[in-house]
Amino acid sequence: MRVLVVEDEVELAEALGVGLRREGYAVDVAFDARGALERFAVAPYDLVLLDLNLPDGDGLTVCADMRRAGGPQPRVLMLTARDSLEDRVRGLDEGADDYLVKPFAFPELLARVRALLRRDADATRAVVEAGPVRLDAAARTVTVSGEPLALTAKEFALLRYMMLHPGEALSTEQLLDHVWDEHADPFTNTVRVTVSNLRRKLRDAGVDGIIETVVGFGYRLEAVS
Ligand code: CA
Repeated sequence: MRVLVVEDEVELAEALGVGLRREGYAVDVAFDARGALERFAVAPYDLVLLDLNLPDGDGLTVCADMRRAGGPQPRVLMLTARDSLEDRVRGLDEGADDYLVKPFAFPELLARVRALLRRDADATRAVVEAGPVRLDAAARTVTVSGEPLALTAKEFALLRYMMLHPGEALSTEQLLDHVWDEHADPFTNTVRVTVSNLRRKLRDAGVDGIIETVVGFGYRLEAVS
């Protein structure tokens, strides 16, 4: 799941980035409206955390511009210091899915993020299964035949993305776009290394061959039920 944080308070933006990455999300940060629209134009996001008061404009305008741009639309969670009914109504009218009034507690933000992503029922089911492998995104656990499997945040995010797209050939670029953030160097072998570690852990847990290599393209998770 890839998240764009749009927030001009640098400390808050960075804290959100660190906290969300720790939960396994791929996170990019923009500090103003222009930066947000630039990133939105080049990367697919599943969710945007959008501050309303930006130095070069209004978050609501950013939201409306993103909605007008078409294409796959992210969920939008407004972050606002204004707790006025009028602002909230306007925000929801402009296409925001939910809002959070500052200051907020990080666990509440995480819960809202999970709830919004859960709304995309098919794409973000909390619990997904592939044969003996069961991944619970809400609990952040993976089990193989009921036995817990310890994965890094990136391995977890990669496995989850693949389990949400069983049987599909997923290109390395697509995996980079959805599982990594803009700091991932597309010319490194980070995807290959993470897949290789994930395969080894799965194999050690007794599941072999579930992730196939699609030569010259990427990977495919075997569609098993
Ligand atoms: Ca602000």
